[in-house]
Amino acid sequence: MWAVSNQVKGGRMLCDNHGRRIDYLRLSVTDRCDLRCSYCMPEGFKGYEEPANWLTFDEIERVVGAFAHLGVRRIRLTGGEPLLRGNLAGLAGRLSVIPGIDDLSLSTNATHLAKHARALRQAGISRLNVSLDTLDSARFAAITKRDALASVLHGLMVAKKAGFGQIKINMVVMARVNEEEIDAMVAFCIAHGFILRMIETMPVGETGRNTGFVALAPIRERLRSRFGLVDGVVPGGGPARYLVSPDRRFQVGFITPMSQHFCETCNRVRLSVDGTLYTCLGQNDNVDVRALLRAGCSDNDLAAALVEGVNRKPFKHEFGEDPAKVVRFMSSTGG
Ligand code: SAM
Repeated sequence: MWAVSNQVKGGRMLCDNHGRRIDYLRLSVTDRCDLRCSYCMPEGFKGYEEPANWLTFDEIERVVGAFAHLGVRRIRLTGGEPLLRGNLAGLAGRLSVIPGIDDLSLSTNATHLAKHARALRQAGISRLNVSLDTLDSARFAAITKRDALASVLHGLMVAKKAGFGQIKINMVVMARVNEEEIDAMVAFCIAHGFILRMIETMPVGETGRNTGFVALAPIRERLRSRFGLVDGVVPGGGPARYLVSPDRRFQVGFITPMSQHFCETCNRVRLSVDGTLYTCLGQNDNVDVRALLRAGCSDNDLAAALVEGVNRKPFKHEFGEDPAKVVRFMSSTGG
């Protein structure tokens, strides 16, 4: 029986102190990854979270149930590389049937996707985001430190056949690394019906800070005129601003945390694999949810802690003003 809720007319709604509705949880199921993308995890990194500190599937289900009770509707499984966590489809099956959750999606690097795509689709994952910065295998190996492009492309083709409603390709654009491949990525996404999203590198962790970012506005305007694109909206589009072709066969999004922040529309919080709730990718404030769970908290105590954490959500990141603020890199927070 829940006593804590944010009941409003027409349904529950979780809002922060800046009037933003929070209906989206990005849930990290592991901080491990089989790639070492230059802007994300340091090469030779060994500081993974102890398995004893990972939230169990029962604990994850309980936290998602509490968030759903408060008004969260969308869950994205992420990491680290989520497919490295055993029986991810089993977890997805448990989360997709939680009352109130109407959108379950996955972010993956797709190295292991071919093996799991069908089971994940059947378990209720409807949408996929796949990280892919290049179509050139030597460049892929240089960026990720693994020779795995063929597995990623195979995974994407299997996923396409498995019937996901939407597959987005996330491309982090890096100066003098993959900038010249933008047109090739556009052609690849048009050919396969994938939605392309370009991302500006964020200064999270030393790796992110050392990469620098490419401002996407000029690229956006070049693609707009080259393909006759118009402004558009894509379901589940999150912070990306989209251009679409008039026949909607091609959709491209731009995620610009550096050149044009979008914090005023932020609708999300993140739970890392050790049960730390972060309410902003670019700030350090957090709630230790695992400690509460393992101290035997009641459902109402849990919900109250989540509401309090959301109430404290900062208005904006400070990537521009204080780029050294966040020492944890993307993969440890849950990207
Ligand atoms: N392994 C999964 C994947 O590859 O999508 C999920 C985790 S990964 C950390 C999530 C996303 O974060 C990827 O698209 C990755 O490119 C992006 N990312 C990692 N570090 C970043 C940074 N410093 N700036 C911008 N995006 C970053």
